[in-house]
Amino acid sequence: MADLDQGRVKAWLREDDPATLERLWAEADAVRRARVGDEVHLRGLIEASSFCVRACHYCGLRAPARGLDRYRMTGEEILDAAREAHRLGYGSVVIQAGEDPGLDQAFIAAVVRAIKADTPLAVTLSLGERSDGDLAAWKAAGADRYLLRFETSDPELYHLIHPDLPGRPSDRLAQLRRMRDMGYEIGTGVMVGIPGQTWDILAADLLRFREFDMDMLGIGPFLPSPRTPMGGPDAPSYLALRDQVPNDELTTLKAVALTRLLCPEANIPGTTALATLDRAQGRELALMRGANVLMPNVTPVGYRVRYEIYPGKACVGETASSCQGCLETRLRALGRRVGQGPGSRLRTECKDLVGCDFHH
Ligand code: SAM
Ligand code: SF4
Repeated sequence: MADLDQGRVKAWLREDDPATLERLWAEADAVRRARVGDEVHLRGLIEASSFCVRACHYCGLRAPARGLDRYRMTGEEILDAAREAHRLGYGSVVIQAGEDPGLDQAFIAAVVRAIKADTPLAVTLSLGERSDGDLAAWKAAGADRYLLRFETSDPELYHLIHPDLPGRPSDRLAQLRRMRDMGYEIGTGVMVGIPGQTWDILAADLLRFREFDMDMLGIGPFLPSPRTPMGGPDAPSYLALRDQVPNDELTTLKAVALTRLLCPEANIPGTTALATLDRAQGRELALMRGANVLMPNVTPVGYRVRYEIYPGKACVGETASSCQGCLETRLRALGRRVGQGPGSRLRTECKDLVGCDFHH
């Protein structure tokens, strides 16, 4: 297989011959094994607040969404969830939330300091678009990583689906660059099949991951929420596009596999959205086709059901401990093992990759 340029990435995304796709799955799995190994790193996901000031057209937590029973966890509750992640043997936690000014600079800095003082966990934040002052204070408090999906590399589609706040033009790529300069490990990603996403746009998204040499890459299917313009009664007008990418499992898995080939060292999760589409084996298929991370939910169950980005989210009713038993069994069946330590991005050489004919 020759160099992965725009045309070839797009052709792979559109490939649907199962025998040809076996080559893609095998290459992605070989690159994953050679570059990041058989360990699967577990990150405990803490959904800290469902308040949000934004109005993203795809997300059920958007500010205008009605009928949500919104919540914000206390500092002690977040710390307890982090302790639970540590007790379960995870190496890191991800504190994710809507873009919530109620999670202010001092509050998050104190939470990060407390987790760092109490546990050896790496701390990842995913709190939306925040000021450089907030980001620098949280880095100084000990935060290690930040996740901010750029959602689409197409500026027109981005502005359509991700409206600016008054006086605050949104530029997620610029924030990612600044966070890298501050010393964060940075993660980004996109949804597959977001209305308005063409094959060319998705191929460009994946190439953008390589261009920016991202450390973590989350790719999940778009799942419509009835609380949003993209899942409500106006949805059909979004889907009129001739070249629309489908939001299905196969296309998502192709995007995951191609991402592994484009960014061989990145940490790539099997996402909850994929598990929601295919509860029986969505995560396993992602792990067999390039992914090396899982993010079990350690949010208290009572809050988890209220963090409704889209309906029917996988694993909402299970406690962290019951998820743990289920995950370990599934990993063993795949011949993989739970990663030890914080699972930071590795920087390795492609030397072990016998027979790899992808050019990175
Ligand atoms: N507020 C933060 C942010 O936007 O970065 C973090 C939370 S937000 C819910 C995390 C991610 O969920 C978004 O970056 C988006 O890609 C994904 N997401 C939102 N709505 C979704 C949907 N309807 N289907 C699948 N994924 C969705
Ligand atoms: Fe808020 Fe994030 Fe959802 Fe956008 S994607 S509405 S910023 S929670």
